[in-house]
Amino acid sequence: MESRVTRDGYKRRLTDKFAGKREKLVNLLKEKGITDERVLESIGSIPRQMFMEHALEYRAYEDLSFPIGRGQTISRPYTVALMTQLAKLAGSEICLEVGTGSGYQAAVLSGLVEKLYTIERHNVFSNRARKIFNEMGLSNVACLVGDGTIGAKSYGPFDVIMVTAGGPKICEPLALQLKDGGRMVAPVVEEGQQCLHVIRRNGNSFKVSKGESCSFVPLVGVHGFKG
Ligand code: SAM
Repeated sequence: MESRVTRDGYKRRLTDKFAGKREKLVNLLKEKGITDERVLESIGSIPRQMFMEHALEYRAYEDLSFPIGRGQTISRPYTVALMTQLAKLAGSEICLEVGTGSGYQAAVLSGLVEKLYTIERHNVFSNRARKIFNEMGLSNVACLVGDGTIGAKSYGPFDVIMVTAGGPKICEPLALQLKDGGRMVAPVVEEGQQCLHVIRRNGNSFKVSKGESCSFVPLVGVHGFKG
């Protein structure tokens, strides 16, 4: 199976037994409104089955989230695509993902940014994801372990921060680790319902746009929900 992802555009090819299903998934995402060609290309190049439990791999291209252990989930492809599209990536970004989980979102991001740091509170997920990234040759991804609500200041500031767990409010320490002009995509609970927020930094001011409702596991940490 060829599964190498490069950042040089559209040379990626993947010829495993799931190629047809992956193409159908990409078409479904287009129908659901994903228009960013680079995002679609990246989704079409990542073997999602590698990030799932073996027993579920035949379902890897359904547009659904699935359990990955410890009550956590691999995100739904539409949500991964939407959040990635909202980040408006050009390719030169230094990016932080909070919530490595299975590693799938990080793999989708890796071909679209210069450097990706992904932080996870559970060691076991981080180690597993690191192994898969190595296997795939995703050399621009660094796996960190810890409470992502504090951020990763020593590696920042970041052009983009993507939070893949639902927080009780916009996480201020993370927003402060954005570069001027940087943006953060994060699910935040409002009136009992999670919805995607895009926070854009302009100097010392932050503009917040609210988008689609979503359903993520809780963001647990000092600036998140209590564990
Ligand atoms: N991005 C993941 C993927 O593609 O599979 C999905 C992530 S899963 C929905 C959310 C992850 O966030 C879980 O693995 C959870 O352990 C992690 N998480 C929750 N709170 C966290 C925190 N404060 N810091 C780091 N990771 C956190």
